[in-house]
Order: sequence, then structure tokens, then C-alpha cells
Amino acid sequence: MRYEAPDTVESATALLAGSAGEARVLAGGTDLLVQMRSDIVDPALIVDIKRIAETRQVTEEKGGWRIGAAVTGAELKEHPRLKQVWPGVVEAANLIGSTQIQGRATLGGNLCNGSPAADSVPALIAAGAVATLAGPKGRRDLPVEDILLGPRKLALTKGEILVSFLLPPRPPRSSDAYLRFIPRTEMDIAVVGAGVNITVNESGTITAARVSLGAVAPRVLLVREAAAAIVGSTLDRAAQDRLEAAARAACAPIDDKRGTVEFRVQVAGVLTRRAALIALDRARTH
Ligand SMILES: Cc1cc2nc3c(=O)[nH]c(=O)nc-3n(C[C@H](O)[C@H](O)[C@H](O)COP(=O)(O)OP(=O)(O)OC[C@H]3O[C@@H](n4cnc5c(N)ncnc54)[C@H](O)[C@@H]3O)c2cc1C
Repeated sequence: MRYEAPDTVESATALLAGSAGEARVLAGGTDLLVQMRSDIVDPALIVDIKRIAETRQVTEEKGGWRIGAAVTGAELKEHPRLKQVWPGVVEAANLIGSTQIQGRATLGGNLCNGSPAADSVPALIAAGAVATLAGPKGRRDLPVEDILLGPRKLALTKGEILVSFLLPPRPPRSSDAYLRFIPRTEMDIAVVGAGVNITVNESGTITAARVSLGAVAPRVLLVREAAAAIVGSTLDRAAQDRLEAAARAACAPIDDKRGTVEFRVQVAGVLTRRAALIALDRARTH
């Protein structure tokens, strides 16, 4: 196995595109190394992206925030501003694994591992995050909801890497929240994950919303019907009921030992409502 740690995006993509055998990006390694040790993958080439400066930075850009793909959950939590502006994204990243895992696990790795249960992905989709990809043919931007196409299936083409995410500018009175259900108190895979992002006007009416659900379908869902169910409301009981119903209707989950279809659908409604109430409270007091 060949290991490379280039310091530019162009060298990384050239290495990946030129590899005859299986090639993998290495970020925190908390998924990749486990899969290699379990003989699930056996790459001929590993390209470590952590020496590429733009994958490791958090910077303000055009009123929004650009987060490098190889920034870890622990680094996001310690960022002086991000937690105030995007608390849902930061809390989602900090639900990943344990303290030790959070020191390694990156946002890019969480998305590119290709799991519909990845915790940071619903929060990023609810946030309206756009991913910047780079490959042998140059760069392109894709909304995060268009990256994960199914379990282990990504929109990235050969030689392409995820460089960073752009979180859009925040209108006043906006906030977000992420909640997940797991059978244990921590260190488990989400049975359902719900991300909600809300903007309210001065009188407390919701003027914009995005709702995303994880672990209830082959890909992480952007549930437009759920957002439409609460825009124009103050999230009164009737709007909460509409939100729950729309969230449940979007689900097409698997049935396994960690949650039946009925259970996942029910929990998706409950978590979406609770996440919306938290996001609303944060937006009002922001
Ligand atoms: C004990 C334990 C607990 C965990 N708990 C959780 C949890 O609670 N929630 C959760 O969602 N996950 C959990 N995970 C899974 C894992 O930690 C996360 O998915 C993590 O975010 C992966 O990031 P990483 O940087 O370690 O990725 P890596 O392992 O480095 O990479 C993962 C995959 O993505 C590819 N990749 C990485 N970065 C890029 C990039 N920039 N461009 C293109 N491809 C890329 C790699 O080639 C690889 O296929 C857990 C893992 C462990 C071992």
C-alpha cells in the first residue's frame, strides 16, 4: 500500500485520478482505518488530505462560513463564533463517537463515508450547506443533499475530493438544531436523526425553514414538505402536528434490530418536532 500526504488539492486529485488500483482519501481515519482492519476495503493508495491547508480551515466568506472538509468536530466546538451562529451543525458534529473520536473525525469524512445515518449530514443539509468538490477537471459546487446518493454511493467522480463546505449567511433571528435517537446514551449509530433550521420575523412567525432527516431512507432526506408545513406559522400546536405528519410521510426506513419501520417513522415525527422547537427558541433569542 502506498501512502501520500500532498499539500495541495491539485496534487491530491492528480494522485487519486492516476491510481490504477483502489484509492482512498484519508481524513481522520475513524471510518477508513476500521474498514481496512476489518478487510472491508484494501486500498492500493491512500491520500492523506490533512496537510492541505484549505481542508483544515474555518473562515468567514461573503457573510457565511467556509469549513474545511478535514476540520474535526472538536475543532468546530472550540471555534469562538461558529457555535453561536450554527449551533445545530456544531452539536451534530459533536455527537459523533467519543471525545477521542471527535478529535479525529471530520465533517468531510462523515459525509464521504456514505452512511445515511451519519450525524452531521442532516444538520448540514438543514443548514443549506454547499460542498465544494475538486477533481482532475477542476472545481464544482454541489448542495450537500446531492452528494450522498445511497448507502456508500456518492456523487463524487474518480479523482474528486471534497474540499470544504460553505454555510450560507445568516439572516437575523435564525438558528438550527439537531437531535438523534440512539438505543444507548452515546457511541451508537443514529436510528433517526433530525436537523431543523429556522428563521423568524420580529413577531415570531417562521419565514424560512429547512428540515432534514437521517437514517430513515437510503439517503439523507431534505424534507421540503415538512418545512412548508411550518413556514407562516409560529409553530403552534397545529403547525407542529403538520410538521410531524410531513416528516413521518417522508420516511422509508429499513427494519432492523435497532428499530422497526413503525418505530423509526414515529420517532422521526417526534424528533423533528422537538428539533424545530429548539431551533425556534434559539432563533427568537439569537
Ligand atoms: C467508535 C466510533 C464511534 C462512532 N460514532 C459515530 C457517531 O456517533 N455518528 C456518526 O455519524 N459516525 C460515527 N462514527 C463514524 C466516524 O467516526 C464518522 O463517520 C467520521 O465523521 C468519519 O470522519 P473521518 O475524518 O474519520 O473519515 P475517514 O475515516 O478518514 O474517511 C471516511 C471515508 O470518507 C472518505 N473521505 C474522507 N474525507 C474525504 C474527502 N474530503 N473527500 C473525499 N472522500 C473523503 C474516505 O476515503 C473514507 O472512505 C464512529 C466511528 C467510531 C470508530
